[in-house]
Amino acid sequence: QHTLQITGLHVSVQTEDGPKEILRGVDLTLRSGETHAIMGPNGSGKSTLAYSIAGHPKYTITGGTVTLDGEDVLAMTVDERARAGVFLAMQYPVEVPGVTVSNFLRTAKTAIDGEAPKLRTWVKDVKQAMGELRMDPAFAERNVNEGFSGGEKKRHEILQMELLKPKVAILDETDSGLDVDALKIVSEGVNRAKEASNVGVLLITHYTRILRYIKPDFVHVFVEGKVVEEGGPELADRLEDEGYDRYLGAPAVAA
Ligand code: ADP
Ligand code: MG
Ligand code: MG
Repeated sequence: QHTLQITGLHVSVQTEDGPKEILRGVDLTLRSGETHAIMGPNGSGKSTLAYSIAGHPKYTITGGTVTLDGEDVLAMTVDERARAGVFLAMQYPVEVPGVTVSNFLRTAKTAIDGEAPKLRTWVKDVKQAMGELRMDPAFAERNVNEGFSGGEKKRHEILQMELLKPKVAILDETDSGLDVDALKIVSEGVNRAKEASNVGVLLITHYTRILRYIKPDFVHVFVEGKVVEEGGPELADRLEDEGYDRYLGAPAVAA
């Protein structure tokens, strides 16, 4: 049983006009086996939350804490966070020139586990996971994210998650740009990882569509850098009907 705890998180980015506060006090507790959907309009700071937890240098933490099983995540380097079991599937994944998918996966697995995976079981695991995600075996020899289609990028992210077995996975708009078939395949991968390794999932999305395939236990509505409403899956249904309008333009009520 693992717990990712976010408390009072404030994050800024540097702009031409000086620092701009994006996250304005985020509280969230994610436990093993739970799926939390973070839903919000464009520009509300969802990706900022994901990158801040993963340790992207662009974001400055100005307040609050993030811990994994009580350990200070914010004090860790990016590599240490990955080794501690934090996984981020990025909205816009980067190319890694000259590194094949196969080598990338094995290197990541070795770094995270602290030892190289046993070759025979590893090859079998990779093959099986790729098969389940309906990926062509030749894909393993392509360079990471080089010329990948949107769908290939997302499958590659889920492949990583299934093989690296993180404690918590942050999936940033894993649904964007996928057709229904690809969305189903990717969602099944997430559900397999939940069953196989009880991973806690932070599912960031603008649309409710993916929540038909990955059932959230909790839904957090995110607006202007903070959670403005929380509930169960029924909240997603209401967002599907009503959109985010009711949260926008309303002045924040001082606590
Ligand atoms: P979301 O993922 O919810 O669409 P983001 O986290 O990507 O939101 O962005 C949150 C806000 O931060 C947006 O208003 C965006 O314009 C702003 N932002 C992010 N980076 C910068 C930057 N370098 N300069 C100015 N504003 C930024
Ligand atoms: Mg966005
Ligand atoms: Mg985003």
